Amino acid sequence: MQSELKPCPFCGGDAEYHSDKGPTGEVYAWVGCNQCDAMSVHCDVRSMQPEETHPIDAWNTRASDAEITRLTEALRAAEERERDAVMSAYCAGATDVHNSWIDGTNGGEPDFGEAASDYYSSIKGN
Ligand SMILES: [Zn+2]
Repeated sequence: MQSELKPCPFCGGDAEYHSDKGPTGEVYAWVGCNQCDAMSVHCDVRSMQPEETHPIDAWNTRASDAEITRLTEALRAAEERERDAVMSAYCAGATDVHNSWIDGTNGGEPDFGEAASDYYSSIKGN
């Protein structure tokens, strides 16, 4: 049975099929990783419903390389958008501090680098 199983999708470890008889004859089965304890679904393989997936099939189901590539690219794009949004908010905040210096409300010489440092301290709560 073990030769049918793909390695663990999380750590690459060997997987093993387990089954356990219940008190009324049910047979609960699952697939588990021998290295990291990841597990498939558990189900009564004796009385599986059509909509249920056998633990071996569930364990062996993997995203295609194309799907992994698509998700990885979507994640990178989302990270880039988030980084841009944080940078824009940071620059806007630092610009506000800088402009308050130019207005003379903050005293001293207007210095964007120092304004950025002050703004960073204010959003960190220091
Ligand atoms: Zn594992």
